[in-house]
Amino acid sequence: MRATTIHAAHDIRVDEVPDAAVRKPHDAVVQVLRACICGSDLWAYRGSAAREKGQRIGHEFLGVIAETGAEVTGLSVGDLVVAPFMWSDGECEYCADGLTTSCVDGGFWGDPGSDGGQGEAVRVPYADATLVKLPAEAAGDDRLLTGLLALTDVLGTGHHAALGAGVRPGSTVAVVGDGAVGLCAVLAARRLGAERIIALGRHQARTDIARTFGATDVVAERGEAAVAAVRELTRGQGAHAVIEAVGTEQSMGTAVGITRPGGAIGWVGVPHGSGNGLDMRALFNHNIAVRGGVAPVRSYIPELLPDVLDGTLDPAPVFDLTVDLAGVPDGYRAMDDRTALKVLVKP
Ligand SMILES: [Zn+2]
Repeated sequence: MRATTIHAAHDIRVDEVPDAAVRKPHDAVVQVLRACICGSDLWAYRGSAAREKGQRIGHEFLGVIAETGAEVTGLSVGDLVVAPFMWSDGECEYCADGLTTSCVDGGFWGDPGSDGGQGEAVRVPYADATLVKLPAEAAGDDRLLTGLLALTDVLGTGHHAALGAGVRPGSTVAVVGDGAVGLCAVLAARRLGAERIIALGRHQARTDIARTFGATDVVAERGEAAVAAVRELTRGQGAHAVIEAVGTEQSMGTAVGITRPGGAIGWVGVPHGSGNGLDMRALFNHNIAVRGGVAPVRSYIPELLPDVLDGTLDPAPVFDLTVDLAGVPDGYRAMDDRTALKVLVKP
């Protein structure tokens, strides 16, 4: 079969690799119907996250069960399923707590020795616990399938950020970052009842999506000017709930600067750089909480799925470029130079 591999910075290839196959009784093989490229894949693409030469890449996919191991009881060949961006056993103490990303048997698609999502098929460990079954009819609805693909990562991550930031009905929310996660965080904040949502971003095509997702205000400035602009919009106070969806020192500094005293920052931007702008004195003086981290999206899929199925949540607009498997390297280039927001892959 063919799958995407990374050989060095800016060197993404589509290679012939061994077919995905059941190796353990709890495995299943998923034939990929839709995959996508994540903003976090770009850290590897740009060389700021180490990868072995030829390692698989891609952690967002949905598809159809092609094969099941002897111990798989809840899934059958032909079922349409969505995978979260990490697998988990569903049995350990962390899984019981809903923190599937800390599962003692868990792992990340594309880790050495595992299949990546940007390929024709994927071997899924602990298939019963990892995969979530989707209604079979969804396979025939292109727009819906695209929206469902967001459950693999960006929608659940946006939801995690909104929960971490303590979004409640009536909250004033600010979202730092206009990538797919930031935009999905706008959707998630609206879903949780936010009254006002200030989206920070300076790419108009993206902030236009933010508005359709529920943003009430847009701030295009960065750094100090962004802090001043959000404070002006909030009677000098800042937002109750601030979502940080970038992961740089500047974005975290902005998040601290725009959080209202007593408020919280929901932090899901994968941290890059040292210190990440966390001004401990500011957090102390203003009783600002920082919560978040890698999102246990497996735990959120059952909650978010009905809203995606009935159209209440439609994250499909974050996908603005579609490629086939051979086009994946072009997809990385397009996301790297920011001509694409998020790339959908139809193998
Ligand atoms: Zn577990």
